Amino acid sequence: MSDADRSMSCVAESVVAGTAEVPLSSLPLTDRFGRVHRALRISVTDVCNIRCQYCMPAEGATFLPQQRLLSFERIEQFVRIVSELGIRKIRITGGEPLMRPRLSELIARLSKVPGVEDLAITTNGMLLAAQLPELVQAGLKRINISLDTLSDATFKLLARREGLQKVMEGIAATKAFPELRVRLNALILREVNCDDVIPLAEFARAQHLALRFIEFMPLDAERAWQQQRVVTGEELRRVLSEHYGPLRALPVRDLSQPATDFEFADGLGTVGFIDSVTRPFCSNCDRLRLTAEGRLRNCLFGHQEWDVGALLNENPQPEDRSRVIELVRDCVQHKHAAHGIGDAAFVPPERAMYRIGG
Ligand code: SAM
Repeated sequence: MSDADRSMSCVAESVVAGTAEVPLSSLPLTDRFGRVHRALRISVTDVCNIRCQYCMPAEGATFLPQQRLLSFERIEQFVRIVSELGIRKIRITGGEPLMRPRLSELIARLSKVPGVEDLAITTNGMLLAAQLPELVQAGLKRINISLDTLSDATFKLLARREGLQKVMEGIAATKAFPELRVRLNALILREVNCDDVIPLAEFARAQHLALRFIEFMPLDAERAWQQQRVVTGEELRRVLSEHYGPLRALPVRDLSQPATDFEFADGLGTVGFIDSVTRPFCSNCDRLRLTAEGRLRNCLFGHQEWDVGALLNENPQPEDRSRVIELVRDCVQHKHAAHGIGDAAFVPPERAMYRIGG
């Protein structure tokens, strides 16, 4: 592709994204396989208040010292730069993002960045009831709440802490904000919470909340992942179809979305499936990830990181901005075609999910 062609496609990108008023300042973030990057997940802490089996160690987790966390100023600085390169969707995650003090200040900052069209949080919901009013006030429009069970006993087994009632209070608190888009994310582990599939669906339908099931990926700190422990999306669709009647596939609205969404046979509610292990969606992946200490990653399963935090500072100079852009492009250029979980040579990343940002 010539430079002229590239800049034409750059203009087209901004129009396609519906952001003609925020033209890209340079070429979009396109990798070697033609994937244009529009989404960034930002981890704001690796600390969590529960210890889910599929993510964290039961005991002995070590966390980044406070002073190594990227400051809100630096996160905003980074988002301002990448939004000029076409990043439109930001999701704040962790660890547990609500454990980061004054998170609403970050939401307020990011919601004002030109070009950011979608600003969301993924949370376990335990601290949500208290923080939700200020988060919404700050500009939060969308929230995913992780909910894997409705049973106190199973919660304790899975999360190795108490807390289900707090999560339920968090979910209930969202009802006061009808404009907020809320989704429930569930992960089903074989021999742990398989009995929760129908109760979770019942709950989501009764609460008029969208529900998504995520397949268990080899990102647990204890390295206990095994293919047999993955309850696949296909199995879940079978269980749900047997109970509710055939699920009806919904049209795909955004190819970069990892989930395939369905409607229940009676039209009451939707359910989605993120089949990351059995039906990888890498060919449409448009995501980058920033760890809590400022390392940029191009894939959950990547083994390489780019230290963008080291380039961000309190008094950014024009040359700093160029160096950040160069680093981001290098990261995008090194992205692999696929995560390779099924490959014989697959080695999970050194970081577990809570240290990357889910
Ligand atoms: N603490 C927040 C929460 O619980 O939503 C945000 C971080 S958590 C790492 C984000 C999401 O990652 C959760 O929905 C969780 O289910 C998912 N997750 C964690 N470990 C996973 C794994 N090994 N495979 C698939 N999803 C995982």
